[in-house]
Amino acid sequence: MATAVHLPATLSREAALALDAADPLADFVGAFALPEGVIYLNGNSLGPSPQAALDRLEQSAREEWSRGLVTSWNKAGWFQLPYQIGDRIAGLIGAAPGEVVMTDGVSLNLYRMVAAALALRPDRRVIVMEGSNFPTDNYVVQGLIGTLGRGHEIRFAEKDEIAGAIDADVAAVVLTQVHYKSSHILDMAGITAQAQAAGALAVWDLCHSAGAIPIDLNGCNVDFAVGCTYKYLNGGPGSPGFQFAATRHQATMAQPLTGWWGHAAPFAFDRDYAAAPGIGRMLTGTQPILSMVAAEAGIDLAASAGIARARAKSLALGSLFQDLVQARLGDAGFALASPADADARGGHIAFDHPQGYPIMKALISRGVIGDFRAPTTMRFGFSPLYLRFADIWDAVDVLADVIETGLWRDPQFAAVDAVT
Ligand SMILES: *Cc1c(COP(=O)(O)O)cnc(C)c1O
Repeated sequence: MATAVHLPATLSREAALALDAADPLADFVGAFALPEGVIYLNGNSLGPSPQAALDRLEQSAREEWSRGLVTSWNKAGWFQLPYQIGDRIAGLIGAAPGEVVMTDGVSLNLYRMVAAALALRPDRRVIVMEGSNFPTDNYVVQGLIGTLGRGHEIRFAEKDEIAGAIDADVAAVVLTQVHYKSSHILDMAGITAQAQAAGALAVWDLCHSAGAIPIDLNGCNVDFAVGCTYKYLNGGPGSPGFQFAATRHQATMAQPLTGWWGHAAPFAFDRDYAAAPGIGRMLTGTQPILSMVAAEAGIDLAASAGIARARAKSLALGSLFQDLVQARLGDAGFALASPADADARGGHIAFDHPQGYPIMKALISRGVIGDFRAPTTMRFGFSPLYLRFADIWDAVDVLADVIETGLWRDPQFAAVDAVT
């Protein structure tokens, strides 16, 4: 590795090791099964596997599925999992028991939630969204309003334009708390209050905030929310997401994907739909049980670490990375694409670099895994439970080496993969 000769003592590897020695979350590192030689800075995209998740998955497959067969719906409590895990997620996002259900993917959940919000505001036609948001949110709402065929329109507004976009025509604001690319945090309390003062409802996407930053849905009086468990909650590839509906809406809310799991009496096998009371009406059909059980371990780890401690460490890891990049690569063309103020960003930091794609691929070839978002953004995630401060130091050391040796210029790093 390249040696850093001109670094101030506070940015030395010894200083990073000292931070690790004092880290109250240090013991969580061993709870994750990460391969040797990998520094994983992509937990904002897919969290790594907790060892307990692998064990639980194996036990569930071998015992509950293989031996228990269909009896496991009752005996292993499979049927209750969406509610049980939902309640545990509720504790991480400032929601009450009975307000959260784990189910399906985020895109589907957003479809149901936005449909429910629009149905509660039948006289209004405008939905405010941040156009630069992760596109599936836009696509889902575009598809929904096409299906509704009632003349709804999306009013796209970027971060600083959102306040000005909310007026008496707005049925719902549908926003993501932490931006997938820049990592900026929107003011959930302020925007929700403003939307509600204008008579609209607030729907929040927590994909990049659940498990990463403190969230207080009820403290912010949020109406509906969705979120994902495979990013900072380390639930596994494609693990189900979740839906939150404030208690005050549950008796009147309706969603279009009415299926038997959302029926008031699923095993009565009635001909006609009757919505379950409470959050259950937001379910549709049979759930991916193995993916659900796999996700429990990561949710439990997040709860036992505590979001406040996790956030504090994530901020410290990110700031160390930022300072080291500045000190070692200040003139190498990396432009910070996230808020400079750490408190204004979520769990990852983005840098723009004109050669971001081959640099990231070269970095990954050396075991430091971040990701790339077109056209020029490199993202580095600072998930606090399995990263050490020394890992951050080593990651920047490898990045400096990739730049200084020109490794990234190797033609093998230029070919664009299907998933970036
Ligand atoms: C990751 C992410 C999603 C993912 O949606 P899926 O349906 O799980 O693929 C959606 N929205 C945002 C803002 C995200 O960051």
